[in-house]
Amino acid sequence: MVSGSDCHGTPITLKAEADGVAPQEVIRRYHESFLKTFQTLGITFDLFTQTYTANHYAATTDFFVRLLDRGYIYKERMTGSYSESLGRFLPDRFVEGVCPNCGFTSARGDQCDSCGKLHEPYELVNPRSKLDGAPVTFRETEHYFLDLAKIEPELKRWLSDSDHSYWRRNALVFTENWLREGLHGRAITRDLEWGVPVPVESENFKDKRIYVWFDAVIGYLSASIEWANRVKSPESWRDWWEDPAARAYYFIGKDNIPFHSIIWPAMLIGYGGRTLPYDIPANEFLNLEGEKMSTSRNWALWAHDIEQRYAPDELRYYLAANAPESRDSNWSWKDFIRRNNDELVATWGNLANRVLSIAYREFKSVPRPLQLIESDLELISAGKAAFDAIGSHLDAVRLKTALQETLALAQRANRYISEQEPWKLLKIDRTRAEAVLYTGLQIVDYLKTLFSPFLPFSSQVLHETLGFSGTLAPQPIVDSAVDLNGQNRNLLTGNYENDARWVPGELPAGQPLREPQPLFTKLDQSVADAEIRRLGETPLRQR
Ligand SMILES: [Zn+2]
Repeated sequence: MVSGSDCHGTPITLKAEADGVAPQEVIRRYHESFLKTFQTLGITFDLFTQTYTANHYAATTDFFVRLLDRGYIYKERMTGSYSESLGRFLPDRFVEGVCPNCGFTSARGDQCDSCGKLHEPYELVNPRSKLDGAPVTFRETEHYFLDLAKIEPELKRWLSDSDHSYWRRNALVFTENWLREGLHGRAITRDLEWGVPVPVESENFKDKRIYVWFDAVIGYLSASIEWANRVKSPESWRDWWEDPAARAYYFIGKDNIPFHSIIWPAMLIGYGGRTLPYDIPANEFLNLEGEKMSTSRNWALWAHDIEQRYAPDELRYYLAANAPESRDSNWSWKDFIRRNNDELVATWGNLANRVLSIAYREFKSVPRPLQLIESDLELISAGKAAFDAIGSHLDAVRLKTALQETLALAQRANRYISEQEPWKLLKIDRTRAEAVLYTGLQIVDYLKTLFSPFLPFSSQVLHETLGFSGTLAPQPIVDSAVDLNGQNRNLLTGNYENDARWVPGELPAGQPLREPQPLFTKLDQSVADAEIRRLGETPLRQR
């Protein structure tokens, strides 16, 4: 599981110019903020790095040179936006003007935010620079292009030869539509000062850089190489990138599908000998209270803000249970509270708390059952079987279904406890009470593992309450490395030495228990009103 901060996007240079700081400073601020959020929310990676590293620059250079050598990159002249006042070329996003399609007065150089149409900056009416408002002119400039048309036949063969029916509908439809229009060469260099240098011996390309979309996707590969070096097994990245049996999953949002289903596979085909994507589980959009999120209107959920008021597992649970896997979904604060109270508190938390409280009070350890009867054995075997069923849902990135089935097992176990009434059995048949409590504890132990991908913090608490030590699931750890300029930079990794064992473990009878504590907190309905009132107010922090 590797990823990182993309450091070469034009919004970074735009923000750096606006704030009067170096792009490195903008990157540092955002990157640190991501790492903090990942740590607080328990989001773990083998490595979360960034693309402003010597390792990434080397991987990008190698990719460019090899594609050039193999004839998949060509040179061509194009029209670039030029600022006479600043004496330099401008990225598309630095150009603004009247949309040639709908007349919107502040259309971006590459796309109109009002009608959504893509265009070239020179098609805008009255194009001007976003930096100083001065008019933009256009000049001929020479660039390298990725020859997508040349790779198209092989790309189509890959898409039709292998079975992609398990892809989500959005990925299939986007990809088919793009291919129907036919692929054209795409510029991979730009007249910019910020980015990976173009690795050619030419005066013409001294002041040009590799365009961000080309280097950003290479980040998956370079992060794998960096990970391999960090774990002192420098060649082990090849297991994921050269072994045809490896399955590469790309977790993205739907707006990024073409880059992962067409452009990155085309680059990998051009390079040769590299694993192509196995699955591209792209999410749809998450709306907020029925409306599209907007950071400028503060119609948004700010991680650094809501994590101060809610436990990370509460937020993770609602995000997973309500994920926009196959269609846009909606974050509603009322629904957040309902699910928290009904599902986390009243179902899962109640089960764990009931069983552990009685067992701890009466025995202080896992009871040793004399005899298990059919109803006990049935529940235990259902718990064991759940690992295969839920595991295959996780494998197919049906995370919502996996979570639903885990919750269904907790509901079933709750019914079992209510029917068996161990609190009554303690007074009339202590041996039978021991068998019921043993069964309940064993199911709670299975469920702690089944819930751990979704609720790592409460599962860890349960792990310890059940008398185990060590880490149940890997947790994020911030570490540091040296960056391109010899300065320290931070990255995120996980404590994988105590690898989560995704198997139904046997709970040893006689194992001492620790005193249980409530896992989740019931939230009052007024919380929703307070959250809704916060929306649309002055942004908490201009990002
Ligand atoms: Zn328009």
